[in-house]
Amino acid sequence: MVSVVLMFGMFGLRAVQAWLIGGYSVLAFGLAMYSGVRARPDIYDPRVQLAYFICLILFVCGLTAVSQRVAAMRDRLRAQRAELAAALERISLLATSDDLTGLPNRRAMSELLERERQRSDRAGHAWCVAILDIDHFKRINDVHGHAAGDEALRVVARVCATTIRSCDAVARWGGEEFVLLFRDVDPAHAVAAAERIRASVAASPVSFGASTFGLTASIGVATHQRGDEIAQTLSRADRALYTAKVAGRDRVRDAAIG
Ligand code: GH3
Ligand code: MG
Ligand code: MG
Repeated sequence: MVSVVLMFGMFGLRAVQAWLIGGYSVLAFGLAMYSGVRARPDIYDPRVQLAYFICLILFVCGLTAVSQRVAAMRDRLRAQRAELAAALERISLLATSDDLTGLPNRRAMSELLERERQRSDRAGHAWCVAILDIDHFKRINDVHGHAAGDEALRVVARVCATTIRSCDAVARWGGEEFVLLFRDVDPAHAVAAAERIRASVAASPVSFGASTFGLTASIGVATHQRGDEIAQTLSRADRALYTAKVAGRDRVRDAAIG
């Protein structure tokens, strides 16, 4: 009986609790045996009761020791699970964010765009994509150095992230290109938002070491057409970006207008 009760209860306990319960069991059974021996020695043979009591002590000690080991294993397992969760979180962050700018990376943005496409195909709301490309970025690298170019990328990332609405998203698409997702907007509002970003970029000088320099960016905006693939929308935004470059850079072009 003792073994059944203790076996079921003890493995969930901490070490101190297990020893307390074990001690309590030994004490309670010892007292019960002792009173039995005192009151009815004809039924409870003292030698047999003593043998039982010794068995009980050995059993309780063994069980408590085992339960302690189980508790230690459980603690180790819990710690390992926490480490694993933290590692998974870190891996997922590394897999979806850009090291240099801290923005979501191309993979993360592709997922966001795909999710938005599915959502709008069901609900039918309008949304837009913009591609921002820093103008003459190669020249910035050549004149100020690669590290200054990196700082310029961080500045543009910061400007985009702080200028967009909280429901919109921006990601580093690659090199000196950024992709923006404008949710629940018509083309006119998306172009206005892109224009705000363009103006902020142009008004945000980059300081690196001894040099401070300005930069500009061109942006192509495209509205997602229901039924289109993401690649088609991005390709239209890219063509609009190209027209912005050809038209002299530092400007926004809407794919629908050209
Ligand atoms: P355009 O106005 O036509 O866009 O000209 P551009 O010079 O910006 O474009 P181009 O494609 O000729 O050059 C892009 C440069 O961006 C070349 C590449 O070395 C640089 N670049 C790409 N990724 C990074 C980066 O992570 N850090 C730095 N510093 N430079 C980068
Ligand atoms: Mg480019
Ligand atoms: Mg460029």
